[in-house]
This record gives sequence, structure tokens and C-alpha cells, in this order.
Amino acid sequence: VSNREPYVHSYSTQSQSDSSATSAPSGDDPEISVERSTGGLTTALDPVLQRLGGTWVAWGSGDADAAVADDGTVGVPPDEPAYDLERVFLEESTVEDYYYGYSNSTLWPLCHGDLGRIRSEPSHWPAYVRANERFADAVLESVGSGLGPGTEAPSQDPIVWIQDYHFALLGDRLRGRLPDSAVVAQFWHVPWPSPDDLRVSPNATALLEGLLATDLLGFHLEEYRRNFLESVDRLLPSASVDREAGTVRYVADDGQQPPSLTRVYAQPIGIDASGVRDEAMSPAVSPESVRADYNLAPSDDLLLGVERLDYAKGIRKRLRAFEHLLETRPEWRGAVTHLMVSTPSREGIPEYEIYSQQVRERVAAVNDRFGTDDWTPVRHVAEPVDWERLLALYRAADALVVSSRRDGLNLVAMEYVAANASESGAVVGSEFAGVNDLFEGSIEINPYDVCGTATEIDRALQLDPDDQHDRLRSMWHAVQRNDVGEWVRRLDRELAAHPSLAVTTCEP
Ligand code: ADP
Repeated sequence: VSNREPYVHSYSTQSQSDSSATSAPSGDDPEISVERSTGGLTTALDPVLQRLGGTWVAWGSGDADAAVADDGTVGVPPDEPAYDLERVFLEESTVEDYYYGYSNSTLWPLCHGDLGRIRSEPSHWPAYVRANERFADAVLESVGSGLGPGTEAPSQDPIVWIQDYHFALLGDRLRGRLPDSAVVAQFWHVPWPSPDDLRVSPNATALLEGLLATDLLGFHLEEYRRNFLESVDRLLPSASVDREAGTVRYVADDGQQPPSLTRVYAQPIGIDASGVRDEAMSPAVSPESVRADYNLAPSDDLLLGVERLDYAKGIRKRLRAFEHLLETRPEWRGAVTHLMVSTPSREGIPEYEIYSQQVRERVAAVNDRFGTDDWTPVRHVAEPVDWERLLALYRAADALVVSSRRDGLNLVAMEYVAANASESGAVVGSEFAGVNDLFEGSIEINPYDVCGTATEIDRALQLDPDDQHDRLRSMWHAVQRNDVGEWVRRLDRELAAHPSLAVTTCEP
């Protein structure tokens, strides 16, 4: 279960370059185009579901009734269906309040330690509750628990794997409604806040209780897991936390629910490491032509940033650091270009619009100050780039900069390392991005430290080839060790280790 769907079905008259168009069954029906979603989570999980089969329940973001089978699902991928997609269609006001509202205007800044950016409206929380309930109904229908009209008995012990911060209450809303043999696991892809930050939320207890209704709860890092256990300990007095075993036993004060036992673990998600490396080295991926597209001379150094345009990514401070580099080390003027593929995201949330505007102004200010007729210091690519072009950019870049003020993990850094596994490159990485805990070879920065960041960018661009090679090799090993297969196998091992579960059915 995830908020974002892996494939979006829409009515269209013409297909787009990165979508596959399939004809609707009747000749009079409009053509349906199916577009694969981009984004870390869907890219990571689609191949897993393709191997395992099952049903992916997600918010239907395309045309409501495009490509619906009799049971309400649709087989994906369209060319060779390997699993079912069950879409939950929400009214616009619910999307506004649950997705842009509670999920991204309260939980996102709360989990990223940016309390000043929390914007809460009275309609947000009720919509979040409602959306979680709607998803619970959809899960029950897909599982076929026999409890709803028209559902069938499940053919095997169902495993429900809930993804991310949009569904903190889903486990609770499924409780007691699934067969006893069912397992409910959840993975929280953003950081978990400290107990002091969490207390800011008037819904802190409900969030914790919701997550403790799951059997298994995963985080990327030990730090987030520790924060969660600490939050439970401080804010839910009737919970017993066993830190050594990583379990929480909880009995709600109202005595309405049976006691729950949740095992909490840490395992970072990863990428398909060797797949990305091989794709990046394919003949279709051309670093030379991508450099030419952006008018970069072969001798120019290229500093790359790739991200959604989000305040958590620390783009403004990074631009200030790049400006400081040009101020203090004039030898870089005309010799380095900072290319930012920073695509607007969550447009419609005022904080994002303001931030986007501030980033554009800062790009213009740096270019006005230092640009010349034949050199633009900062190139801002605001449109999303397709995967092949992204891989070419990774290979073309002399260094990648990840400047997140806070970041659950950061898959971009892993992709960059995989794309350059057999070549050269450097990662300037924020100490506040989860991936930095896995990498020993990155050049670490405190993204709040403008002067320090400028110094480290300077260093990264001048690493000697042996140093680059050693650092890349070390980071590449980390990417391989923590690839997406390992993330799924960990779920399997956790299912086997859970004190009250004895199933191992997930091994891909
Ligand atoms: P987040 O989940 O916060 O967006 P991640 O770095 O973990 O950040 O994952 C982002 C994913 O989206 C990566 O797989 C990356 O390739 C892709 N991506 C990020 N920014 C862009 C962009 N501007 N254009 C195309 N793909 C992008």
C-alpha cells in the first residue's frame, strides 16, 4: 500500500514518449495511456511486486475509471501484467487536506525537524483519518477477508506492507478486520522526529498508537528507530519498550483493543545496484551529448544536484555556498558549472511556492553577479529529466552535491555512485542525509555551514584520481550491500524473527 501508484492510467489521444499506450477493449472507447511513475519508492517496489505478484493499493491519480477490470483492479505493467493495481479514488478536497495538508504540511516538516514550516488547518487531520479509513477498506477488499460484500476468502496468509507517512493510522484501521493469520508491516521512509519535536503535534499519541497496531515497523536508520522507541517510551506510558529485542508491547488505556506486539527494525532501502550500473554504461547513455546539450565545454567542471525542489534539500544554502566558492576562489570562475535538476514538487503548498521563488531568485543573483557572455555559473533545469538523461548527467558530473537539511535516506546519491561505479566522481554529502551513515567515501558537509560547504566542494572537484577511485569503491560497496533486494529480504527475516509470527513467504 502506498500513496503514489506505480502506473498512472489516463485517457489520451496521443501517447507520450515514456508511456505505453494500450487500446481500450471496445472500439468506441478512448485510448488509455499508461505512464510509469517516477520517484524512489515506486521505482524500488515495482520490480519486487513484479517478482512476487499480489496487489498494490494506491491513490488513483489518473482518470478515475480508466482501465478497470470487473473486480476494480487493473493488471500492471500493461504489456505483461504481473500484479494487480487497486486504486483508491479520493475527492479533490480529501486529497487537498490529507495529502497536501496533513501529510505534507504537518508530517513532512515535523519528521524533517522543520517545525516552523508546519501549517495546520482544522480540516487536515479529519481528512487524514478519512483517507486512512478508505485505504483500509480497499485493503480488506483486495485481501478478500470475507468481511465485506462480494469479497472472497483469502487463498493464503496475507501480508500487508504499508509504505510511508501517509498511512500512520492504517494498521489501526485494519486491526481485528483481517484474518488472524494476516501480518501487517509498515515502512516509514522519512526520519522519525525526536520525542521533543513529536510532542509539538496534538496527534502524537494517535500517530504512535496507529503505528503500534502493526506487527512490524521499519525505518531506514538506527537513529530513526531509536527516536521512535524513545517517543513511545516518553509519550505512551502504558507501552513497554524492550530496546534489546526491539519490540513494543502496548495495551491501550481504554482497554478496547487486545494488546499488540510490534517489532521495530532499521534497514535502509536501496536501489537495484547492478541494474543501475549496467544501464548507466549502456551505449544509449551518453555523457558527452548531455554535456553538449547544456553547452558545457569538455574542460568545464560539472557540479550536479538532483532533487525535488523541496526546502528539506537545502538548495538555497547550497547556492550561497557555491556563490561563496566563486567569491573566494576566483580560479573557478568560468571553470565550473553548477547544474541543478531541481524539479518543482508539491506545488500548491505555500511553503513550496515561496521556496521555489527564493531558489529562482538566488540562481538569478549568482548568475547576474558572476555570469559572462559564454559562462552561466548556475543552470537550473526545472523539468523532470528522463532516466537515461539522468544517468548520462550522473556520469558527466565531476561531483554530486547532496545538501539536504534532513533526508530520510537519499537515493540520488546511491544512483550517482552506481552510475559511476567503474569511472570517476565524488559525492559531497550532507551529514543530515541518511545515506551519509552508509557511506565512508563521501566528502561530508554540514549544509548549514556556507563557508565549510564551499571549501568541501572545492576539495571534491580537486580530488586526485586515486583518492576518487578509493572513495567511489567504498561507496559502491555500500550501495551493493544495501541494495533493494536486501531491503526486501530483511522484511522476510523480520517476519521469521517476530515472536508471534512464524511465516516466511516473502523471499523474492
Ligand atoms: P525523495 O524521495 O525525497 O524525492 P530520493 O533522492 O530518495 O528523494 O529519491 C528521489 C528519486 O526520484 C530518485 O530515484 C531520483 O532518480 C528521482 N528524481 C529526483 N529528482 C528528480 C528530477 N528532478 N528528475 C527526475 N528524477 C528525479
